[in-house]
Amino acid sequence: MIEFEFTDEQILLRKAVREFMEEELRPLSAEIDREGKFPESVIRKMAIAGYLGAPVPEKYGGAGLGKIGYCILMEEIGRVDASVGTILGAHSSLGSSALLYYGTEEQKERYLVPAAKGEKIISFNLSEPGAGSDASSIQTTAVRDGDGYTISGSKMWATNGKEASTYIVFAKTAPASEHGEGITAFVVERGMKGLSLGREEEKMGIRGSSTMQVFYDGVHVPEDSVIGGEGKGFQVAMTSLDVGRISLSACSLGASERAIELAVDYSKKRVQFGRPISEQQAIQFKIAEMGMRTQLLRYITYMTAWKAEKLGTDPSKWKKEERRQLTREAAMAKCFGSETASFCVDESLQIHGGVGFVKSSEIERMYRDARISEIYEGTNEIQRMIVGRDIIRRGWV
Ligand SMILES: Cc1cc2nc3c(=O)[nH]c(=O)nc-3n(C[C@H](O)[C@H](O)[C@H](O)COP(=O)(O)OP(=O)(O)OC[C@H]3O[C@@H](n4cnc5c(N)ncnc54)[C@H](O)[C@@H]3O)c2cc1C
Repeated sequence: MIEFEFTDEQILLRKAVREFMEEELRPLSAEIDREGKFPESVIRKMAIAGYLGAPVPEKYGGAGLGKIGYCILMEEIGRVDASVGTILGAHSSLGSSALLYYGTEEQKERYLVPAAKGEKIISFNLSEPGAGSDASSIQTTAVRDGDGYTISGSKMWATNGKEASTYIVFAKTAPASEHGEGITAFVVERGMKGLSLGREEEKMGIRGSSTMQVFYDGVHVPEDSVIGGEGKGFQVAMTSLDVGRISLSACSLGASERAIELAVDYSKKRVQFGRPISEQQAIQFKIAEMGMRTQLLRYITYMTAWKAEKLGTDPSKWKKEERRQLTREAAMAKCFGSETASFCVDESLQIHGGVGFVKSSEIERMYRDARISEIYEGTNEIQRMIVGRDIIRRGWV
């Protein structure tokens, strides 16, 4: 039997987050996009509200909302501004998860607690100029050196790279295999000698989030900077990405819902051939298709979040099959979610006609913002590889 309902607390959470995002974020969204500016004032207010540590347990300074609560937050952000969804995704889903799932108690105290309270922002540095989809081919190295390691290499596409105080970086401590053995995760602090920022990318969408080159030029870190043990970094990265893909799916759900809302509103107001265009079957069919896909997305997002919650945050307790199933479903949710959002914003823009194509329209920004979700946190081609290979290996379960 499948039974699913939001708790009273989760319903109240949604109401509170929606009010917050409508009042604090929506009025600034156009400016954030136009200026390509990190929304510092909103992020500060979100930190005070506990949103920067939403899925982190209270004992580590978080709001303890669990995966479902976190997805509610991401869905509501996705309705308003994908830049903020990206900032939070890199900070909470990727950065904080690496520490929550694999960090020592000392690392949690030192790095996770201030991140959950929003006092420090995290950037997750896996990708490199020569290693995107093939993340196991990274060239950054970490060589044992006295009481620790020396990290050398360049990272690319680091979301929050400009604002971060804490960097989770992946480097080879031994020749890496196709399955990522030999890669180790480290936590590095801003201000360490040899850490510097390069170019900031000028992007077509999610322009409020920074995307940076980060250089590690002989950065010496102590031994206790290793997260999850030497050679276990690929697992740290893949677990964080599983969590990230579910919350990204929630963000795409919010964008899809907003695209429908805008399409319905506009189609009721726009009169052509003597009646509102909403009365044309061609428009109704578009809205029906957007609605069907979005409803399915709602199910897969929250079902997968619920499974992730049940699995817990101690990877040593996971059964192999449960873990593989979660990876499969997180990939499905990310892939289906991002394509649903792209479909919905495209159809909604079409329903807006020429009005949707001008800079002052919300749907124009949403159209540009949505595109990235098919690329980052693993492209959709890679998600289909994960899903296809796993179904072939383990069958349809
Ligand atoms: C705005 C932005 C923010 C990002 N934030 C972060 C971040 O915070 N941290 C981080 O580490 N990374 C981040 N990334 C990097 C992102 O995860 C990568 O861009 C992504 O994984 C794809 O890598 P790539 O761009 O090198 O593309 P490539 O790997 O070069 O792929 C190019 C094309 O080839 C396809 N392809 C590649 N291999 C295969 C295959 N085996 N089979 C079929 N098709 C294949 C891909 O799907 C894609 O269509 C970010 C990227 C962007 C653009």
